[in-house]
Amino acid sequence: MTDLQASKVILPPAMLGIIGGGQLGLLFTIAARQMGYRVMVLEPDAQAPAVSLADVHLCAAYDDQNALQQLAGCAAVTTEFENVSADSMRWLAQHTHVAPSGDCVAITQDRETEKTWIQAAGLPTAPYQVIRQEADINQHSLTLLPGILKTATLGYDGKGQIRVNTLAELHQAYATLKQTRCVLEKMQDLKAEISVIIARAQNGASACFPIAENQHQQGILAYSIVPARLPASLQIQAQQMATKLAQTLNYVGVLAVELFVVGQEHRLIVNEMAPRPHNSGHYTLDACQSDQFQQQVRMMCRLPPASTQLLRPCCMANILGDLWPAEGQPDWRPVLQQPDAHLYLYGKKTARTGRKMGHFTILAEEPEIALHLARHIHTQLNP
Ligand code: ADP
Ligand code: MG
Repeated sequence: MTDLQASKVILPPAMLGIIGGGQLGLLFTIAARQMGYRVMVLEPDAQAPAVSLADVHLCAAYDDQNALQQLAGCAAVTTEFENVSADSMRWLAQHTHVAPSGDCVAITQDRETEKTWIQAAGLPTAPYQVIRQEADINQHSLTLLPGILKTATLGYDGKGQIRVNTLAELHQAYATLKQTRCVLEKMQDLKAEISVIIARAQNGASACFPIAENQHQQGILAYSIVPARLPASLQIQAQQMATKLAQTLNYVGVLAVELFVVGQEHRLIVNEMAPRPHNSGHYTLDACQSDQFQQQVRMMCRLPPASTQLLRPCCMANILGDLWPAEGQPDWRPVLQQPDAHLYLYGKKTARTGRKMGHFTILAEEPEIALHLARHIHTQLNP
């Protein structure tokens, strides 16, 4: 590709491709179509959220060569999940513009390479050790206890990780995780969990959304509160860290960076990253001047990042399948009757415990008020 082509912006009504048709694919599709682009979605599940809104649905496996051929005809291609085959993305990059790159996606797929890159950017992580085999569990492991053993790949929403207090528990946990390559992390004294969503363009221009303060329940994000109730200096530092990370990776697209605020001294360490918009960035749909999905569209189209300014404090609450009664749907009136609430349902056909079915965002004068109201409404949705 010549430099001139490489710098050419992609304008509507170009066809944009996305691998994956879950809720992140759905919200991407809405953003892209609203801006006048057309969208081609590669998704094997005909009932997946993004499918009914796509201009073209390729109903095939994520690595299906015929489907990838068709995606290669799009003006640009992106992904909505990190466990897409990085090789598919590298292959696509030979034919069309791909953002983020297959290399960046591959790095975030693996906690070991991810941590290597975080450290290469000069940023701190929790102390850790890679465990490739039983014999790697040694004296060094002892210094990381109590700790968390995490599979190097394919973990999400707290799955694929076990808390361990002793060497015996560590051996047991390693066996439970089927002795796949793991990372043992020292348990950190978490004062808060936060995330930064950054959009970075090919020319290096970038913009961070405001920090979200994240509360989890059973390993799954429950609430994101914005602005985070932390000193401004710490929030700026977190944005600087995300920017450094994106720069080091030469990242193009939307990157989500999860950080921990640790100890009395409120030190920031990087936990993990995702090469895409993130659940903790859903608040941007209603509370910011642009949202993370518009940024995803803009970054893949070689447009500059849009303004990330926060318009109002807010709280986003996830709606999990746990709220579904045995028959029918939850009664949505508690959310819909609230003038400051915005409801999103992803249209998933079956509800399961822990499955993300939708979310709602409350806008308020203060983040505490938004959190309080979100919790109250959430309780009312319980069957
Ligand atoms: P996932 O890919 O499932 O999101 P994470 O690495 O983010 O995996 O871990 C899930 C949650 O477990 C985190 O949000 C945090 O609450 C907790 N956690 C993870 N690592 C540590 C750690 N080193 N110390 C303390 N808590 C941790
Ligand atoms: Mg996480």
